[in-house]
Amino acid sequence: MSSLETSSAETEVDAEVATSILGGAIETQENQGIQTIQTFTSGVEREVKNITSTLEFEGQETQISFVTTLDHMTHEYVSDRRDTLGVDNMVGDTASEGAAAWYDLRKDQIVFDSVAMSSEIDAEYWARVRKHEEIHEQLQAKEFKLSEIKYNNITLSVNPVLVEWQACKANIPSDLTPEYKGHVAAGDALVEFLGSEEPLVTALKTGDMQALQTHIDQLQIEQILWSLQPLELSQDRATQMAA
Ligand SMILES: [Zn+2]
Repeated sequence: MSSLETSSAETEVDAEVATSILGGAIETQENQGIQTIQTFTSGVEREVKNITSTLEFEGQETQISFVTTLDHMTHEYVSDRRDTLGVDNMVGDTASEGAAAWYDLRKDQIVFDSVAMSSEIDAEYWARVRKHEEIHEQLQAKEFKLSEIKYNNITLSVNPVLVEWQACKANIPSDLTPEYKGHVAAGDALVEFLGSEEPLVTALKTGDMQALQTHIDQLQIEQILWSLQPLELSQDRATQMAA
């Protein structure tokens, strides 16, 4: 066996042990309950250092090589989670309520399920989840003056249907449950009726859903008036044809 092969086999073992130490440190943090991404990731760094300090190495070279591998791995993990999820956002248990994440209106906090802190994640998916919650947080009112919007004999709830219609703009269809796909379709149909997103987006931002309902009622009156015109036209045409 050449020395090159020996060193690559050692590196593999290093990486395996390092992965398992990092995994253990992540698990320890997952059991700490709800906390910020900053606190969680700092806890992982601390725990990795604690475990490393208890390890015995055959020689200084082995120690340096192993610690370098583990440090690099931990740093990658920590900076990736901070970038993807945001240091001030929270991590906790949202999966037990069937959610990957949520925005807690009362506490004004975005909470990701702890699965987002696993060692391997789909970073693009979690970036979309974050954007979804940020739409709730930044583009929507905390209170709405009406809880339902009515048009063309259709009644839509403001929450969840219309608020989720907007937040799901951050997602791709495969992210969404059939229920959420339904909210998207219902919101899109309302936008088609309105002729633009603007009145709906403004109402969601200000919370003044009554303004949106008034706008809809006005549009419906206009629609009725328009629908009367073709009758007059066709009557004219009938007159012309008879002449
Ligand atoms: Zn949502």
